[in-house]
Amino acid sequence: MMNLHQPVILTDKIPIGISLCCMGGPVRYNAKGFDMLANLGREKLDFVWCPVCPECMAGMGIPRDPVHLSNGTGDDVWEGKAEVKDRHGRLVTQKMIEGCKACMEALKRCNARVFVYMDGSPSCGVYRTTLKSTIRGNPPGTFGSLLLKEGYFLIPASDLQSPLKWWDWRRRMLAFLWLSDLPITSMQELYDVWYRLKFLCQELDNSWAREMGRTLAALQKTDFSAFEPKFRAEVLELLRRPSTTAKMTNSLWKHYSHYRKSRGKSVEEINSPDFRRGVTKIAEELLKMERTAVEDEYLFGASPVIYRDQRRLKPKIGAGDELEMET
Ligand code: SF4
Repeated sequence: MMNLHQPVILTDKIPIGISLCCMGGPVRYNAKGFDMLANLGREKLDFVWCPVCPECMAGMGIPRDPVHLSNGTGDDVWEGKAEVKDRHGRLVTQKMIEGCKACMEALKRCNARVFVYMDGSPSCGVYRTTLKSTIRGNPPGTFGSLLLKEGYFLIPASDLQSPLKWWDWRRRMLAFLWLSDLPITSMQELYDVWYRLKFLCQELDNSWAREMGRTLAALQKTDFSAFEPKFRAEVLELLRRPSTTAKMTNSLWKHYSHYRKSRGKSVEEINSPDFRRGVTKIAEELLKMERTAVEDEYLFGASPVIYRDQRRLKPKIGAGDELEMET
């Protein structure tokens, strides 16, 4: 068991599904696409991308008439209560259902449990199915509905354009995948998981985290089997919820202050919450604290699960299975 006071380091590349038009594929109805991964730079290579386009897999071709949901949401389409129609009113419901199923099969073959979706699409949209300014349409879209039912960790592609929002999604996604896969077989292991994740949970929802802390303190060993699934489900649900700039800035300062005090070291250019700066600068500071924490084997509670390419890690001589960063 690794030291609880260190971050968890994942070394397997994470497969992520993505709406193909968000990866630059010219597959929209008008033969256009957007490269929404451009801002990730080299970090893009830390993941295995699995692009899919339900409308293309429906066999609708490019260019094509735009489609829309008629008489209900994407959920209703799957229940046979609503239809998908093109601009001329032609029914394409059955084709869309087949296209969505084919895309889901591809995501499963790729082992993707995360999906970056194009919001505002009647197919891939999750919270909007139209791009018209204040109108949400009939969410979710047909494929968005399937992604929700399958429990995907869903990231809106537009949030990849902000370094701070992406930082927030990435750390929650890594914690989500780690916890999803982790076998928890005893109360002690459950307490250890909580120790690792509680700081992030406190940042996301302090009242919920305090209540969970009180519940855990009152539990008996015999409560483990009944409580573990509830604990896991609630933490996973919380990890889907975005944080805010103010919360992330406060959290950075709180953890950095603790790091300075406990390790007697400082990190240049990490600022207090009162210091006014833009979101790009805040994201840089968070990344710096994250890197420092990994190099110094310190648990930065705001980002407790980290991905590092195996090639950037080398075995620490004589230290069992622990890993050390290459300098
Ligand atoms: S169906 Fe999805 S991937 Fe295909 S063009 Fe529309 S939003 Fe993009």
